[in-house]
Amino acid sequence: MLEKLKDRVYRQNILLVKHGLVVLTWGNVSAIDREHNLVVIKPSGVDYDAMTADDMVVVDLDGNVVQGEKRPSSDTPTHLYLYKTFADVGGIVHTHSTYATAWAQSGRSIPPYGTTHADFAFGDIPVTRSLTKAETEIDYESNTGKVIAEAFRDNDISRLPAVLVKNHGPFVWGDTPEKAVQNAVVLEEVAKIAALTEAIGGKGNRVDDALLKKHFDRKHGANAYYGQPQSCGIREN
Ligand code: 13P
Repeated sequence: MLEKLKDRVYRQNILLVKHGLVVLTWGNVSAIDREHNLVVIKPSGVDYDAMTADDMVVVDLDGNVVQGEKRPSSDTPTHLYLYKTFADVGGIVHTHSTYATAWAQSGRSIPPYGTTHADFAFGDIPVTRSLTKAETEIDYESNTGKVIAEAFRDNDISRLPAVLVKNHGPFVWGDTPEKAVQNAVVLEEVAKIAALTEAIGGKGNRVDDALLKKHFDRKHGANAYYGQPQSCGIREN
């Protein structure tokens, strides 16, 4: 069942290690098959070295395991909450990557300080509110999805591909698991550059609105012109 998607999700989980975004077993990638409303996700706490595509777990949108021998990621209910809330999301990544997590632990959204950020996101990468005691004690993981959704009430997920869960870490998405992992790589780089910008005295030196819009739109807008047309057979960044 969903063999191709399991292989893609497996490969993207392994790429998190290659990109230095996870240590030990911290992190997870999932993808959804919207036709069948099934989600493929990494098993919980399995060494990346020992993991195989067959270890990927298939769950339905209620969290029931439909296929797989192993227990799904502990963050599965967060992924499911996001898939149910945001119809355009096709892949989700969670990591504890160092710089993005440092911003999450600081309880600060990441301001757009330059075009590296603007090429990726149209504004601040938001940080969620804290979960209440009750939200933490019961249904913690789906409540994590709930506070993410709340942070996006006034934000557009197609223009901001990541969020920082306060005192936890980043969740990142894309229309495919491949794009979600790419976005997780970019988020970490943006978080690092923003931290360094502030460290050397640039706090508050936000990119101009016009420059933010120019860079975001030339890559992601209706008339985007970055990269090569699909017909050239060259994969866009
Ligand atoms: P899992 O191994 O259960 O996916 O947990 C990883 C993690 O990062 C928890 O936040």
